[in-house]
Amino acid sequence: MTLDLHDDVVSLTRALCDIPSVSGAEAAIADAVEGALRKLGHLEVLRDGDAVVARTQLGRDRRIVLAGHLDTVPIKDNLPTWTTGEGDAELLYGRGTCDMKAGLATQLRIAATVTEPRHDLTFVCYDNEEVASVKNGLGRLVRNHPDWLAGDFAILGEPSNAGVEGGCQGTMRVRITLKGRASHSARAWAGVNAIHAAAPVLAILTAYEPRRVVVDGLEYREGLNAVNVQGGIAGNVIPDECVIDINHRFAPDRSMDDAYAHLQEVFAGYELELRDKAPGARPGLDQPAAAEFVAVVGREPAAKFGWTDVARFAELGIPAVNYAPGDPLLAHTDNEHVPVAQIRECERVLTAWLS
Ligand SMILES: [Zn+2]
Repeated sequence: MTLDLHDDVVSLTRALCDIPSVSGAEAAIADAVEGALRKLGHLEVLRDGDAVVARTQLGRDRRIVLAGHLDTVPIKDNLPTWTTGEGDAELLYGRGTCDMKAGLATQLRIAATVTEPRHDLTFVCYDNEEVASVKNGLGRLVRNHPDWLAGDFAILGEPSNAGVEGGCQGTMRVRITLKGRASHSARAWAGVNAIHAAAPVLAILTAYEPRRVVVDGLEYREGLNAVNVQGGIAGNVIPDECVIDINHRFAPDRSMDDAYAHLQEVFAGYELELRDKAPGARPGLDQPAAAEFVAVVGREPAAKFGWTDVARFAELGIPAVNYAPGDPLLAHTDNEHVPVAQIRECERVLTAWLS
């Protein structure tokens, strides 16, 4: 499989989609991207597993990182790609079109066409983003080759409707286990019902008013929700245990410690078991490179709802935003598609900013 990065950006998007690349099976697309980048000649190229990194070394005073994942969620009869409509209404359909081969194509086009960029550029194409975070190729690159991820500002090609989506929310999952005493349900007075003991916890969740908070100019909406409840073993037994899993999505002005302290306050008197956590990232739009980029994009920036790898860049001290064609709400749907006009717009904006 070969890719030609001098192809038109829409053809390149289709070519990237049509190389099946479900998480864990990115070798073919990584080979194709590596081969195409090496052919360009003006970039240093690194291969690590199924991640490929390429960079200019022009001694510019600022370095911009353009990053995107190579993998997709599983295919659902939605490849090879197809199009509908014409002109401004043309849509490109298929697995990966929105999340995120179109974004990847715009970045790879810059690699091929902007050979004398005004900032040094690093292109990071990585594997295993759509699966458990321990497998994430960007995380592995941070561990194996931190020097290759240096930069002053990063653009992640996750779909953002061709606008800048800044920062990302943090996420934390905690478990509350309520204890009771089992008995026969015909003699319930001999037991203590653990499911009934969940009622006050659910009441706290129902009454909870999530914050809306402005961080660096963008409004974030938090959330606190029960996402799973388990309890009971049979139709005639008073349950002696009920387990509630709670997910907190928090704005990036809270650290993970802040978020946990907040949950301890909200659920005072209950023991919390921390199951999973990932930090948020401030949008960092006050940074000069970010502010300059937002001005070139010319659309109102928005907060990112959800967790993306911009948080990994934030941990490295690199402000990062999501910027790419496609509606994030369509990511992972069978109906995944991207407006062709947005692909072209993003390529135009990146070219104008980096040339
Ligand atoms: Zn994605």
